[in-house]
Amino acid sequence: MAGIGIVGAGISGLTLALRLQQLGVEATLYSEGDAESMRSGRLPNTVARTWLTRARERHLGCEHYADPACLMDAADFAITGVPPLKFSARLLDPSHVADFRLLLPALMEDFARRGGRIVVTGAAPDAAQVDRWSQGHELMVVAAGRRSVAELFPRDAARSPYDNPQRRLFAGLFHGVRPSTTFGYNVMSGYGEIFRMPMMTRHGVVSTIVVEAIPGGPFEPLTRMDPAEAGPTLLATIAEHAPHLRELIDAAEFELTGPDDVLQGAITPTVREPVAKLPSGRIALAIGDAWITNDPITGQGANLGSACAWIAAEMIAEGGPYDVTFARATADRMWEEAAGPVTEWTNSFLGPPADHIIGLLSAAATRTEVANLVLELFTDPAGNWAVLSSPEEMGRLVDALV
Ligand SMILES: Cc1cc2nc3c(=O)[nH]c(=O)nc-3n(C[C@H](O)[C@H](O)[C@H](O)COP(=O)(O)OP(=O)(O)OC[C@H]3O[C@@H](n4cnc5c(N)ncnc54)[C@H](O)[C@@H]3O)c2cc1C
Repeated sequence: MAGIGIVGAGISGLTLALRLQQLGVEATLYSEGDAESMRSGRLPNTVARTWLTRARERHLGCEHYADPACLMDAADFAITGVPPLKFSARLLDPSHVADFRLLLPALMEDFARRGGRIVVTGAAPDAAQVDRWSQGHELMVVAAGRRSVAELFPRDAARSPYDNPQRRLFAGLFHGVRPSTTFGYNVMSGYGEIFRMPMMTRHGVVSTIVVEAIPGGPFEPLTRMDPAEAGPTLLATIAEHAPHLRELIDAAEFELTGPDDVLQGAITPTVREPVAKLPSGRIALAIGDAWITNDPITGQGANLGSACAWIAAEMIAEGGPYDVTFARATADRMWEEAAGPVTEWTNSFLGPPADHIIGLLSAAATRTEVANLVLELFTDPAGNWAVLSSPEEMGRLVDALV
């Protein structure tokens, strides 16, 4: 056995495995479960993958579940404040929303069908196990998500401005919401956010509803409620705070699609050191949530994991030695081209918006072309952070739209 060892079969590890396979680099994927076990289990997230991620998957020949009913091509924004802002926007190239319990097993089967080697570990191994595996590989890439082998990659305090969650989360799949390919985005100052999206699931296309609750605020109880009460409790909140979404709901049918189709919790936004030297002498490089866990408020973690996997694969395919210098250069490139802008943008979203962002949203409420620009900026924050973070650049871009 040689080549690259990849720990974790989430979107980051699978994208890396498939891209390395495409580039002719031998890789072994260590997965906690097999494809069948990944299909069961609790809702892990509610991910919208943007056109950039979808283009990478198309390039790999891995397009799955792209039913038009789960391709989001528009958004309705409603933001409370003085004055409240409302606008609708269209996307040139839609985002795709599929339950990861469907999508990831399909990607895993693509890798296996094309001759990829998968080792099912049956449990989440620790750092000592990663070290043992590393003896059979030239490089280990750890893509094992936010909950595992964190001891290899200590927190990078300089890049992690928060040391506790800035939102508590509720996410669920619901029956009883009229189908729509429009993303519903509701921001309530002091409360948090409520999102709705269509999602392809084992029940067909249903709606996901996500509540991002400001800790200690009025929405927080939703993130701790008994899931059996989710339908009526959430409906009352939606009726009060997101009337546009309430119009899509049939109260008699509104309920979770199943007991496993819900998640509640909280994420502390964290950037870790991406490079570790293992006792074996080999290097471990972290990508995806194992490296950076952002709050899902901007819907970027999976898109970022895919982008970083792509960059890492290209660097690996250029050849070794896969030493500390190589790993640091790869991490620097991933930070500059993808992770840095996405992380800074997402963290800025968790606090009060800057004046120029309020100005942008106000312009969007009166001009369709600005509204469409806002939505496009969302789908490529890495490409757009230079504009989003600068009042001057932003002003120039909006003026150019006249
Ligand atoms: C409610 C919610 C909504 C979200 N919405 C979006 C969105 O709209 N857009 C977006 O881009 N992102 C979104 N995200 C973020 C996204 O889900 C994550 O960033 C992304 O799935 C991380 O992928 P990953 O492959 O890095 O890690 P993971 O998905 O965590 O995958 C890691 C895998 O490794 C396995 N594993 C763990 N430890 C080991 C081990 N030691 N050995 C072997 N295997 C191991 C795990 O079983 C898992 O399969 C959302 C997250 C949440 C919670």
